[in-house]
Amino acid sequence: MHTRAADYLRDHGLKATAPRVAIVAVLLKEKRPLSVQDLLDALPKKTADQATAYRSLEAFAEAGLIHRLDLGQGKALYELSEEGEHHHHLVCTSCGKIEDVEDCEVEAFARRALEASKRFAELHHHSLELFGICKDCVKKR
Ligand SMILES: [Zn+2]
Ligand SMILES: [Zn+2]
Repeated sequence: MHTRAADYLRDHGLKATAPRVAIVAVLLKEKRPLSVQDLLDALPKKTADQATAYRSLEAFAEAGLIHRLDLGQGKALYELSEEGEHHHHLVCTSCGKIEDVEDCEVEAFARRALEASKRFAELHHHSLELFGICKDCVKKR
């Protein structure tokens, strides 16, 4: 059960405890950024309490297994950082809908920014979120 989730944890040097495996399994299944509350709602009952979920997510983020997004919704969202699947997000500021943007044109910009910088030697990652109104919300106006 959940071998992929357990492998994921071990690949990132993390112990595959039952609550951790369950949390990663939810992230793998949902394939969208989740808040701690979304996670707790999706977990089988009594798998993890809120403190365990927070601690696990912190450990995951530190190990590079997930990254934390601030999409301006007043709560952090967490998403698996699968290799080769770097992407950005479109966010509806009215209903909170999130859509992935697979194209990334930031790399070239980042290279130029680094070349122009006098103080920085390396750039490691970036984040970019795009905010607007989705088609459903536009219709409701
Ligand atoms: Zn919307
Ligand atoms: Zn990018």
